[in-house]
Amino acid sequence: MSILKVSRLGHPVLRMEAQRLSPQKLGTPEIQKLIDDMMETMVEYYGVGLAAPQVHESLAIAVLESHGPRGDIPMTVLVNPDVTILGEEQIEDWEGCLSVPDFRGRVPRWNKLRVDALDRKGNRIQFTAEGFSARVIQHEFDHLKGKVYLDRMPDLKTLSHFAEFQRYWLPQAKENS
Ligand SMILES: [Zn+2]
Repeated sequence: MSILKVSRLGHPVLRMEAQRLSPQKLGTPEIQKLIDDMMETMVEYYGVGLAAPQVHESLAIAVLESHGPRGDIPMTVLVNPDVTILGEEQIEDWEGCLSVPDFRGRVPRWNKLRVDALDRKGNRIQFTAEGFSARVIQHEFDHLKGKVYLDRMPDLKTLSHFAEFQRYWLPQAKENS
């Protein structure tokens, strides 16, 4: 396995709609290795999600995993995901992105959704997600459509460098939670 170079804001690959994969292509050793490398890269950089365009591959693949205070997400591979919003509730919270290093900003996201996708073996999977895991899925799904979280921020005034986020925003964020 290898740790891959992460694309950063300004690279055109982050603004392209990712290509869906045929079951045949998904089964190739190249794509299976890409999925392994994406998982290793996400873990290396302490990400909770990583989409293939973030490693310069315009393909509809995302990996997710989180074991932290915001919520537990088991290691999940989503291929060709479709997302259906459930309910009308939105929650605003902080997000960061490996492709927008050293920044945090507040982003409203739908609280609940259904995911239809393929797993890495090409099996159909369907599940509902809520709260933090729904947030991570929307963030990664956006990457597959050429969007980044900055596009979803209604007010750029909360956009903060990480050190300033910790100094000025985090105490307030804790009070509010
Ligand atoms: Zn991101």
